[in-house]
Formats: sequence, structure tokens, C-alpha cells
Amino acid sequence: MLKFSTFSGGVHPRGNKNTHFYPTVRLDQFKTLRIPMSMHIGPPCECIVKAGDQVQVGQKIGEPISPMAVPIHSSVSGTVKTVRREVASNGRSMDVVEIESDMQYTHHESIKPPVITDRDSFIQALRESGLVGLGGAGFPTYMKMQPPPDKQPNVLLINAAECEPYITADFRQCAEHPDEIIDGIMQVMKYMQIDRAIIGVEDNKPLAAEVLRNEITKYYLAMNIKPSIKVVSLKTIYPQGAEKMLIYSLTKRAVPSGALPHDVGVLMLNVSTVRFISKYIKTGMPLVRKRVTLDGSGLNLPCNVNVPIGALIPEVIEAAGGLAEEAGKIIMGGSMMGVAVDRLDVSIIKHNNAILVFGQKEASIPDETQCIRCGRCITACPMKLMPTNLDIMARNKDIDGLKQHHVMDCIECGCCTYVCPAKRYLVQSIRNGKSYVRQQAAMEGKKQ
Ligand code: SF4
Ligand code: SF4
Repeated sequence: MLKFSTFSGGVHPRGNKNTHFYPTVRLDQFKTLRIPMSMHIGPPCECIVKAGDQVQVGQKIGEPISPMAVPIHSSVSGTVKTVRREVASNGRSMDVVEIESDMQYTHHESIKPPVITDRDSFIQALRESGLVGLGGAGFPTYMKMQPPPDKQPNVLLINAAECEPYITADFRQCAEHPDEIIDGIMQVMKYMQIDRAIIGVEDNKPLAAEVLRNEITKYYLAMNIKPSIKVVSLKTIYPQGAEKMLIYSLTKRAVPSGALPHDVGVLMLNVSTVRFISKYIKTGMPLVRKRVTLDGSGLNLPCNVNVPIGALIPEVIEAAGGLAEEAGKIIMGGSMMGVAVDRLDVSIIKHNNAILVFGQKEASIPDETQCIRCGRCITACPMKLMPTNLDIMARNKDIDGLKQHHVMDCIECGCCTYVCPAKRYLVQSIRNGKSYVRQQAAMEGKKQ
């Protein structure tokens, strides 16, 4: 098997991939859905439905008002109960559409395969599909497909690393839909005129690598053409799946500070993203459902589920076996980079790939003590930053120091906090530091 070396730094948390071998279960029994008008990094969409309207699956209910946004579609058929301004699970204020499902899942009349003839129509179709990167960042995929003319990618990288503890949603995608993953990759290569692709899989998931490799062989034997997709086994180390780390591990190209993958000739997509592209081209059904890993000591039945976007987290947990004990902490995402949920009326959104529930004991946060200058955080930082110094500067609001020490390069991976023997709240502190830099830039009218 082809194996590539890796980046410097990183940590080895316990994988806890408890749900690797459980097939995904589709759940549909949700009566009330709450769909926020932003599940992407740009400004929220404008809501185009009102209370009392009838909606169907795949019907557009949110119209983008900025190039950084993509449309939002209804994930169920039923009746719009309310449209309310709220603070959504990502902390931003926006309209949230509450829909009462009729449980029929009737498809909207607009659902038909998109007409794609060239690169422009491919990119436009992806925008209409409402697709954002399904690996967690929420960046509109169609925007990744539009690099500057002098920075066209010459390699497509597929992120199937899934390095975050607990999460197995991408692994299940590989195990259950390898044919659509390979088809999606071929579609992207064809329309984006990229002639080679590399799929990166951590070496703790040999089954994923094997099924993908088998599918590639089948595809090329059927088409009788020279292979241009390869599967690469990567060292299991967190954060192997972070964008800059994976690009380096697979191509040895270093993305400079402030630069993007296209600056080094790379287009990177998540494995679930390319599978969605294949399915969308065949059916025209926009992004209305999500595969989510449910795990953690607080759950009765760790599993992977496929649920409509907008399903409420407590209802998803209940439908999947319920709580084993009173929840001490609920996290959207993985245990290293996920975000703790502070209220329970939060719904599943497009780039939400896991819900972790922990009991009271595991949820307790240790007290911070003084830094002992051991340097472990520096060794662990994959971005070659000085977390201990950034922490002090952030606490002192030393914005010039933070900028000089490249605080904006921090990918908030949590490796520094993970290794710190003094239990310093390093990521939280550095995140504050980043927000001070952004605030200052906003006041000065500059983009950071
Ligand atoms: S400083 Fe940022 S990038 Fe470096 S280890 Fe800490 S969280 Fe990760
Ligand atoms: S790991 Fe913790 S104790 Fe050690 S230098 Fe970094 S902040 Fe200080």
C-alpha cells in the first residue's frame, strides 16, 4: 500500500471510533424541523416563505443575497409554522423557519437532474444545490471551484482522513457508497479539467482504503482507460484531516500564511462532498439531509444516522436510542474541534457531522494552573506557532504581539490544550486573541 509521510506536530488522542462498523440508519420521524437561514460562512439567506405556506422536500426556502451564500431548501414536506429571528447554533442572528412535517416527504416539482454542459453550468448547479463543504467548515463548494485564472488546480485532493475522535460519518460514506464517491470525483475532474486525484485515508481505516481502491479498479476496467485516481494511506495523527496538513502530507506543498489551497495548485474536497455531487447530478435533489455520528458516554446507542437537516438534536438523540444518563455536555462536531451546545432547541445543520453527548463526570472542566514552560504545546502545534506566548498575549490583549506571532494562522485544532499538563485553556484564549485582531481590523476598515 502506498504510504506518505506527514506534517510536523500533532497529537494522538484515543480514536474512539466506536461506530465504525454500524451501518447508517435513516431516521424520518421528526414532526417539527427548524431550519436556519445560514449554514454557510457568508451572510444569511433571505427567507422566501412565510407562516402558513405549504412546502415540499427540496423546495427553496432561502435565497442567497451574497456570493458567499448558497440557497437553503426544505428537508421535509409540510406547513411553515413560524419564521422567527433567532440566534442560531453558530451564534449568529438570522431567520429560522419552523416547519411541521406531514411525514409524507413529497418531493417538490422543481427536483430534476441539473442540465450541465460545461464548467460554468457545473459550478452554477453546485451553487443551486446548496452545497457547502461537508467536512465541517461550511464553505460554499461552488466558490472553491472558481480560483483566479492564473491559479487553476492541477490536482484534486479528497479528504477522507476523518482524524477527529469519535466521528465515523465519512468512513460510513466510503463503506456504503464507494461507487458514488468515485463517480463524484470523476465529475469534478471532468468539469474542472483536473487530470489527477488523490484520496487521503488515515491508516486506521484500512477498509475505507480497500473499498475505494476496489471501486477505482472496477471503474477503470469498465471504462478501459488509464487510472488517474489513487488512494493514499496516511499516518493516523490528529489533525491529519486539517486542510493545510493534508495538502502537505499528500503533495509536500506548503500553503503559506494567509494563502488558500488554489495558491499551491490544489482543489480539496471532502469525501462526503464528492459523493453528494454524484447524487445531485443524477437526481437534482439539493442538500437536505445529513449523515451524523452520534456517540459519547451519555448515549445508549452510539450510531450513524441519516436525518433531515433541521431535525432537533434532542429528537435525533431520542430517535437513536436516547440518553444513558443525564447529559453533562453536548458537542456539535468532534471532541477536539466541536462546539458545545448551550441550549437544546438546536437543529442539525449542513456541515454538522457529529453529536457527542457526555455524562456529568466527563463534562467537568479541570482548573487551570500556572504554565510550567514545558514547551509541549509548541511541539504539538501543527502550525508551528507558540501557543504559550499567544495565550499570554491574548490575555493581555496585546494585539500587535498577536499579529507578529501569526495568531490568525491558528486552526483551532486544540492540540496545544490537549497536551498541556497545566490544563491551560489555550484554544479558548487564542480564539479570543483572534477575535481581538478581527475587531481591530474591522474598526480600521481592513480585512484580516
Ligand atoms: S495554537 Fe492553534 S494551531 Fe497551534 S496547536 Fe493550538 S489550536 Fe492548534
Ligand atoms: S504546554 Fe502548558 S505548561 Fe507547557 S509550555 Fe505550553 S502552556 Fe505552558
